[in-house]
Amino acid sequence: MRAGVPRERREGERRVAATPETVRQLVGLGLEVEVETGAGVASGHADSAYTDAGAVVSPELDPLGVDVYLHVRPLTPELVAQLRPGTVTVGLASPATELQTVAALAAEHVTAFALELVPRISRAQSMDALTSQALVTGYRCVLEAALRLPRFFPLFMTAAGTIPPARVLVLGAGVAGLQAIGTAKRLGARVSAYDVRPASADEVASMGGRFIALNLDAVEGAGGYARELSDDRATRQRELLAPHVAEADVLITTAAIPGRPAPLLVTADMVAGMRPGSVVVDLAAESGGNVEGVVAGEERAVRTRAGDGTVTLLGMKDAASAMPSDASRLYAKNVANLLELMVADGVVAPDFGDEVVAGACLTHDGVVRHPPTAEAVS
Ligand code: NAD
Repeated sequence: MRAGVPRERREGERRVAATPETVRQLVGLGLEVEVETGAGVASGHADSAYTDAGAVVSPELDPLGVDVYLHVRPLTPELVAQLRPGTVTVGLASPATELQTVAALAAEHVTAFALELVPRISRAQSMDALTSQALVTGYRCVLEAALRLPRFFPLFMTAAGTIPPARVLVLGAGVAGLQAIGTAKRLGARVSAYDVRPASADEVASMGGRFIALNLDAVEGAGGYARELSDDRATRQRELLAPHVAEADVLITTAAIPGRPAPLLVTADMVAGMRPGSVVVDLAAESGGNVEGVVAGEERAVRTRAGDGTVTLLGMKDAASAMPSDASRLYAKNVANLLELMVADGVVAPDFGDEVVAGACLTHDGVVRHPPTAEAVS
């Protein structure tokens, strides 16, 4: 069977779904691999590196000509219409929001695997693109903040005086938040963090952060994820967080609830209550934002309440694409490892008795197999 790797079309997307390393892996499984010219250039892989790895590089990838279509960003309904029935796709699918594409995948009888649906169990860790890409974004957002902060992160004791470390507050201590804590810590900041899941307290401590315990009941849903708070508890949460936000030089927010808009943790008034020069980076900006008034991909200067300066508010967008080399290296491995579960002698034959294969499958044989998405599509 032939696997195709397109040049990603979405503006700002610089990652690629296969690297020369994973092409070797796929060729070793007996697959033919076709890569579209320039697919890997933005992530540091020349066409010749793909050819050396055993791929065929073609000027334009014809979706009709491949059995397996590997991608980064969710497909469009127009692209899906060009695939043959029975084509297998593997990539990010944003099943909660890209409902037209999901409907098209089912209608065209495409067997689509969504990396967001890979079960978060130990056996599937090597296929977990949410984790690998969150690691990149968590790291990157701290660097973005550090570059905008008009002061040092670490403590400096100099002949001209002592400079105290910057105070970094991270809200949401999942994969991205923990990586943000670790990165800020490595840069020498004093880091504190909060998450609505009490289980994250130990993880925060293990990354060198101080966990902030709020006097708020624990909210932990299925699979270790958080659940949405009721309106009054969300309001109480913001009140309790306000003094911690006011003290921070850098605020990084990463809170998310699967399939739901991001929870609002920080009001515009809380941002205005920060010191002049402080920096806020909202990683959840693309899913509605944790910070009131944030816009994905935009940077704004917010006037402080005291009128003595501004706070920088950055809505992160395409954060993983900003580090396309390592983001692609990890992402492509996730894709290849998931595919490896389903390939025997060069033929892709998904075994739906395998919980990882079954869990990651979004559409097959004209049916939307992921129940919440099926309900949303109908
Ligand atoms: P996520 O991106 O869905 O959410 C980020 C964080 O936001 C979570 O820690 C969540 O608790 C937090 N959050 C949600 N609402 C909040 C609120 N109102 N206030 C404060 N924080 C809030 O999460 P994720 O990074 O994908 O990880 C979710 C869980 O999955 C974690 O328990 C993680 O350890 C676990 N996980 C397991 C595996 C595995 O076993 N293979 C892999 C990755 C993650």
